[in-house]
Amino acid sequence: MNIQENISLKEYNTFGIDVNAKRFVSITSVYQLQQLIKEEKDIFLISGGSNMLLTKDIETLVVHINFKGISIDQQNHNDVYITVNAGENWHEFVLWCVSLNYGGLENLSLIPGNVGTCPIQNIGAYGVEVKDTITKVEAIEIKTGKLVSFSAEECQFGYRNSIFKNKAKGKYILTSVSFKLTKNNHKLNTSYGAIESELSSKGITNPTIKDISDAVIAIRQSKLPDPKEIGNSGSFFKNPVISKEHFEKLQSDFSNIPSYVISDTEIKVPAGWLIEQSGFKGKRFGNYGVHEKQALVLVNYGDASGKEIYELAQKIQHTIKDTFDINLEIEVNIIQ
Ligand SMILES: Cc1cc2nc3c(=O)[nH]c(=O)nc-3n(C[C@H](O)[C@H](O)[C@H](O)COP(=O)(O)OP(=O)(O)OC[C@H]3O[C@@H](n4cnc5c(N)ncnc54)[C@H](O)[C@@H]3O)c2cc1C
Repeated sequence: MNIQENISLKEYNTFGIDVNAKRFVSITSVYQLQQLIKEEKDIFLISGGSNMLLTKDIETLVVHINFKGISIDQQNHNDVYITVNAGENWHEFVLWCVSLNYGGLENLSLIPGNVGTCPIQNIGAYGVEVKDTITKVEAIEIKTGKLVSFSAEECQFGYRNSIFKNKAKGKYILTSVSFKLTKNNHKLNTSYGAIESELSSKGITNPTIKDISDAVIAIRQSKLPDPKEIGNSGSFFKNPVISKEHFEKLQSDFSNIPSYVISDTEIKVPAGWLIEQSGFKGKRFGNYGVHEKQALVLVNYGDASGKEIYELAQKIQHTIKDTFDINLEIEVNIIQ
């Protein structure tokens, strides 16, 4: 195991924040990880670094999860059961599934990050959440070093949420994720407006899994900044869910407020719209700001610090609270 000293984490996080890791190790097997945590309990985990804002140097050992491997556990005429090690890149795994015509993940094409972290916030996009395909998550319990497994139910998945963001936070290192995907009778999800129009613009009426994946990739490339060009962490805030009463009150002041009905009593409001209404969309403050096409995305244009971006996020939160009386929750992990 090669523990390096004083490594910049700029290349390891999609925001491109240049903070120092006092000690850093890249881990390539579960066994190595188990050996490591016998000695080191105080660790900071980094996988794809696409869901974190680093606001300071990291004094504890930074453990980069880098173990690879995909195995087909079982299959029949209709379904295939696959286990993927945590360090595999998410989008490459999705493309692999698409190339073999395994259905279920195509709407989640081009999401950055690794497979091992996909259950943590139950990644979702274009009408699909990863929870619907996950059968099992394996993890090492940091305290004991034991390998444990969580069924999908035990993961307690919710909207951008799971047990790993709550009760189990900081207690486990996720090592592999198992999926059940379809080989036939795919349940294609094209209900999301942008997918429908992308397919119809290409004259596709009977889409394949690949058609949907290609459509999602095209939409994402046209709307979201590529972290390789402009540092960012995708959606910075969650879409808030408010009471129906609260929504109706807001509607009297903002008649064009968009909404999605969640239940008889709850309404989801797009955080991007709230931010745009508050005048932040496209605003640039030196080396950082709010993306011009997507108000939900905070960006690092150059050498911004994580602290500066976090302060901007807090400013946005205060403005939304003052204007709409809504608490905007941050989706990205703030490391401070
Ligand atoms: C351009 C862009 C677009 C995005 N679009 C979407 C989207 O459409 N939908 C969506 O849901 N998300 C989206 N995201 C967010 C992000 O891609 C996902 O949250 C992704 O799952 C994060 O994976 P990661 O490997 O990069 O995690 P990291 O950022 O490396 O880690 C996330 C958190 O988990 C911890 N951690 C890391 N590895 C492990 C491990 N093995 N076990 C336990 N804890 C660990 C870290 O310490 C950190 O707290 C987007 C991000 C970007 C940059």
